Amino acid sequence: MAQMLAALGIHSGEPARTVEYLERAADMFEGGFIRWDAAVVNYYLGAALYRNRDYAKARLYLQKALLGAQELRVPVNAAYVDYYLGRVDLAERNFAGALEHWDKAMPIFTQATDLPAIFETQRFRADALSALGRTAESQKALEQVRIAAASVKTLELKGKSLARTNRLQGPLTEYQLAYQEMLGTPDQKHGELPAYMTASVAEAKFDAKLRETENALLEEQQKRTSLERVTLVLALLGCIAVLMLGAFVLIRQIRQKRQFANLAMRDELTGLRNRRSILEFARVQFGMRLTLGTRLFIAIIDLDHFKAVNDQYGHDVGDAVLIGFANAFHRHLRSNHVIGRFGGEEFMLIMPDTREDQVFDIFERLREIVGEMVIAGVPASHRLSFSMGGSEARADTGTVEALIKEVDLALYRAKEKGRDRCEIYQGGLQATYDSNVQRARPPGHAPLAYAPAPHIQAVKAPVRNLS
Ligand code: GH3
Ligand code: MG
Ligand code: MG
Repeated sequence: MAQMLAALGIHSGEPARTVEYLERAADMFEGGFIRWDAAVVNYYLGAALYRNRDYAKARLYLQKALLGAQELRVPVNAAYVDYYLGRVDLAERNFAGALEHWDKAMPIFTQATDLPAIFETQRFRADALSALGRTAESQKALEQVRIAAASVKTLELKGKSLARTNRLQGPLTEYQLAYQEMLGTPDQKHGELPAYMTASVAEAKFDAKLRETENALLEEQQKRTSLERVTLVLALLGCIAVLMLGAFVLIRQIRQKRQFANLAMRDELTGLRNRRSILEFARVQFGMRLTLGTRLFIAIIDLDHFKAVNDQYGHDVGDAVLIGFANAFHRHLRSNHVIGRFGGEEFMLIMPDTREDQVFDIFERLREIVGEMVIAGVPASHRLSFSMGGSEARADTGTVEALIKEVDLALYRAKEKGRDRCEIYQGGLQATYDSNVQRARPPGHAPLAYAPAPHIQAVKAPVRNLS
């Protein structure tokens, strides 16, 4: 690559390109092992920079070339470099410096009978000497110029000027070989430049090669970019998948937690709220009723003679009856009414925003449903019934426990009165409801009037633990 660039630089007709290519080639050679090539490139680059009037840089590369030539022990090359260094000095009006360089170069040119070189060097020597006022020496130099010029002419006529060209372009053959190797063209004889090797062709080929390389690089870069993009997308997808998995696990955990919490609040047999849950609900409703300004009715339903069901048909049938009751109650209650299993065969009903007469209606409806209920193992002749006790929270009802105690008293009274009925606690007055009487009334009849009942406090109700 460096050799190719060097050849392009040497052949290029454009000074700017020559310098550009040679500089790149020199950079590549810098610190490398191909000292011969480096020295030659530095020489050509120095000369090109000189022609571009970039004297400081020209000196720098020519000095590198000089070092190279000295190291390689090629005095002819060193002499040519000195010749250019002299011209740089001359251009910078350092006449003494210029003469020093030419004094080193001249003996070598003379020894090699390099007439064109002698001609050129003496010409500039004459100028430098004249500038220094060394007129006699200057004229002597001019004499040498004249002799050399005549000789050069003769030689040229003899077609021998090729020798100089060959020597000057000697190093070029290295590049020709490199080109040939690169292009796969047959070997050329030393000194012969084939037509296709003109600078423009080589330049075009080089440009094509450069474009090819650049395209390959670009392609590779695009591949790497698309690969990076794919990796990024995959990483993103992975992150999303991990996040989704995390969210899924979290949601499942929350659901499970809720399910467990739900299970902890549910009665195993009936699936209704358990005692703890219904009591909690009762407490919340009791606490909220004043704030919301709503009524709150609590009732307890107790199955009548349930022990007999167990005894007669077995515990499993008893369970089925409990489930049947629970389903019937749950299904036919109003949406804002909540039922829970309060104890063995007892259910608690929380009825916010419900009036007393509506409680009797509810009792009647549940009673009808239970009457139609068919439970496997229980003969149709066995009439299942339940009793209900209820009480409405008043402004002066201190606690939910106090309210439940009233409910209990009402229930106790219903049992006492013969079961299959609903009793409601009303302070000192006990409202009673006999479903048989209710059923006997024509439809659309006005609500039952409640007869005053003996003070309920007189009735000794069972004591419950509400914890
Ligand atoms: P009363 O009309 O006075 O309420 O009479 P009762 O027989 O219903 O009342 P008692 O308190 O004497 O009996 C309740 C029975 O309920 C006793 C108990 O074995 C039964 N029981 C409680 N829990 C369950 C249960 O989960 N399954 C079954 N099969 N029976 C239960
Ligand atoms: Mg009971
Ligand atoms: Mg009972």
